[in-house]
Amino acid sequence: MTTTLTQPVRLESELAAGIVDGPGGYTGVEAGPEWAAEVRRLATLRNATILAHNYQLPAIQDIADHVGDSLALARAAAAAPEQTIVFCGVHFMAESAKILSPEKTVLIPDERAGCSLADSITAADLREWKSEHPDAVVVSYVNTTAEVKALTDICCTSSNAVDVVESIDPDREVLFLPDQFLGAHVKRVTGRDNIHIWAGECHVHAGINGEELTAQVEASPDAELFVHPECGCATSALYLAGEGTVPEDRVKILSTGGMLDQASQTKAEKVLVATEVGMLYQLRKAAPEVDFQPVNDRAACPYMKMITPAALLRSLAVGADEVHVDEQTAHAARLSVERMIGHGDPGSGE
Ligand code: SF4
Repeated sequence: MTTTLTQPVRLESELAAGIVDGPGGYTGVEAGPEWAAEVRRLATLRNATILAHNYQLPAIQDIADHVGDSLALARAAAAAPEQTIVFCGVHFMAESAKILSPEKTVLIPDERAGCSLADSITAADLREWKSEHPDAVVVSYVNTTAEVKALTDICCTSSNAVDVVESIDPDREVLFLPDQFLGAHVKRVTGRDNIHIWAGECHVHAGINGEELTAQVEASPDAELFVHPECGCATSALYLAGEGTVPEDRVKILSTGGMLDQASQTKAEKVLVATEVGMLYQLRKAAPEVDFQPVNDRAACPYMKMITPAALLRSLAVGADEVHVDEQTAHAARLSVERMIGHGDPGSGE
């Protein structure tokens, strides 16, 4: 039986006493059996479920109740019987969980875990941009803050961005944000010239460039290439694959679920993976006989890695950091997310 806490519990174990708040986040606790037992004990006490994004550290993925992409986790949060959600991911993702489950307590183990792509446009930037194009329809990728989503007409994922834009009256201008690579991909596929693209990007993907991708593909002529379209750090690879930089028949544009399915079905001995490196942990578990290699082994999101074992333990112990989205913003943001459902296959977000 679970119990709902009304008062925060105190960190009293020797383990928790070692937690240090440093420049890269909380440290000082090893992810061993003692840590795992303490995390599970506190999760039960708090009536909490632990959700972990695919790019989380392996120890965090292993202890979580659910592992997946941002939208899949936001849906899991809404469906969970527990009253508290501990969201191990970056801040906009925890906000999305709060938007879809306003009645629940949503905690992120370290609220400093941001996202350079989401941070590339603020609500003030968007208001100004909209004022320059008052009749335009605003389409936002899900990697955006709740405030930006609240000013958006329709959200999209990379899986359905083309469908969303094609559903808009061809005579209306479109403001597409914040990812310039996804925007360029959508512009090319739809052939629209009245689409304006915000010049945002995820700094992690900067290393997944055309030369590196081409060199890797040429060095492994029998390897397949998996590109995860819902990842801000792989949208440049998506653009390059569409441009013919790599042979089309060897490129698989796959959601996380599709990637895991394809991992167990592939006949290739080697697969190059263009996404954040955390995904390799899931793929290697799904198909240990396949040699999965990152296109860029430096494509690790430092924000995702701020959710350390120490941060998770602290979060459960003190009930922090709580995610708040005001009711009006949450309502408007929820509408823009709901409008994207039904346009193609929205997949699961980043
Ligand atoms: S990988 Fe890039 S887009 Fe994804 S959370 Fe990190 S900074 Fe944001």
